[in-house]
Amino acid sequence: MSERITVPAMDVPLFDEVDVLVTGGGPAGIGAALAAARNGASVLLVEQRGYLGGMATVSQVPAWCPYTDKQKPVIRGIGIEILNEMKARMEPGFQELWKDRLDWVPIDAEILKKLLDDKMAEAGVRLLYHTFVSKVLHRDGIVEAAIIHNKTGTQAIKAKMFIDTSSDADITYHAGGQFAQGGDEGELQPGTMCFVMSNLDRKRYMAYCKEFGNSLKHAINEAKAKGTLRVVRDWAGISWVNDHTAGFNFGHIFGIDGSKAEDLTRGAVEGRALVHHIAEWLKSTIPGFESGYLALTGEQIGIRETRRIIGDVVVTADDFVACRSFPDDIARNAYFIDVHMAKPTGGMIISHLPDGHSHGIPYRALLPVDIENVIVAGRSISTDRATQGSTRVMPNCFAMGEAAGTAAAILTKRGLNRSRSIDIDELQSQLIRQGAWLGEDLHANKQT
Ligand SMILES: Cc1cc2nc3c(=O)[nH]c(=O)nc-3n(C[C@H](O)[C@H](O)[C@H](O)COP(=O)(O)OP(=O)(O)OC[C@H]3O[C@@H](n4cnc5c(N)ncnc54)[C@H](O)[C@@H]3O)c2cc1C
Repeated sequence: MSERITVPAMDVPLFDEVDVLVTGGGPAGIGAALAAARNGASVLLVEQRGYLGGMATVSQVPAWCPYTDKQKPVIRGIGIEILNEMKARMEPGFQELWKDRLDWVPIDAEILKKLLDDKMAEAGVRLLYHTFVSKVLHRDGIVEAAIIHNKTGTQAIKAKMFIDTSSDADITYHAGGQFAQGGDEGELQPGTMCFVMSNLDRKRYMAYCKEFGNSLKHAINEAKAKGTLRVVRDWAGISWVNDHTAGFNFGHIFGIDGSKAEDLTRGAVEGRALVHHIAEWLKSTIPGFESGYLALTGEQIGIRETRRIIGDVVVTADDFVACRSFPDDIARNAYFIDVHMAKPTGGMIISHLPDGHSHGIPYRALLPVDIENVIVAGRSISTDRATQGSTRVMPNCFAMGEAAGTAAAILTKRGLNRSRSIDIDELQSQLIRQGAWLGEDLHANKQT
């Protein structure tokens, strides 16, 4: 509909005024809030759900992508701290199985939610759950306040620095930022409604996998040929949190733009329908799943791709393939390009770096052009589409968030509110002191 109505101007109460406002409590927002608070800033984190974790808890994405380049951890700092503390709260059997592993570790969403509440309290981050940022007030490239909506009504929050970890770059969007989205024809990666099943028998499933391989490729292809399973890809991601319970990343819903509520609604309805169909098929087909119980679907369909900001630099597939380093690197990425097909007839785009290799993520890719006091971290940073298919994963988002939060705190401590005033050398040195990994060269330089 193109018809518009005018909403009268309104005075709203000021809810709070802080150094750093973080919008969105996914991996990027978690890294940002913890880093900013630990570096001395007053921090408020606003999250529309009643818990932190982002896709891992909102959408039940069941595993952490690799933290390593297959030779060493590339994601360290806050990212690895959260991973290790989650593991330490898991059942002894899980701890034993995963103790030395950093890649594809399954996520227990309930343990993660509680851990994250505890971490925020420990660091002195103020939380405001059940609250949505829907607008910002901005002038001459400076965001002055975020407008929030919740049960209390409409209010405002002022901050010196705004960290946009909403994954759709909502703050930047409302501040008039520039964007790219999807492929040449606007095509987007599909969404997935992830789910959890309990009452499964892991031992019998593992015996089946020994014969037929995991990911259920064999069974899926057989069922597709018979017409008994409606999925496009012959792959299921299954992550066991104990011997009876697993999370599933299985099936696709196409044509969903996660920055539109009406598409998210269709994704919820179609996603749940597909999950019920898949769960019935799993129970009737896979050894060990016969008594399975569909315990949970995501609160929201999992979204892989929406807006990408246009930042001071755009990281490209060329940079990825060349394992390029930038003078202002604030993190490194070793995950493969993993772009899921936009249409049921399309194919996956996958490209791996050699073992031991990674590329840099520059600070400039976090800075939306023409906006001074917003730092973006997470899924929506400034990359081309292929590279977004790689940088988007959760361990990377922790690292980018940690850099964004550290930068914001360094700036506000000096009374500054322009992201480009940062002393890059100081930011990188501080990140290294905090345990982040920025690559051999930078570590060697900073130590001399
Ligand atoms: C189906 C699927 C499978 C995936 N598989 C993996 C995997 O196996 N391993 C892996 O590491 N990664 C995986 N990913 C990628 C990864 O989960 C995401 O890219 C990552 O979570 C992005 O992190 P983020 O912090 O940028 O945002 P998100 O995790 O999306 O978190 C954003 C948070 O911001 C909140 N928010 C958004 N807008 C507002 C607003 N305006 N006001 C207040 N709050 C707001 C949201 O509620 C949410 O909590 C997968 C993604 C999908 C969809």
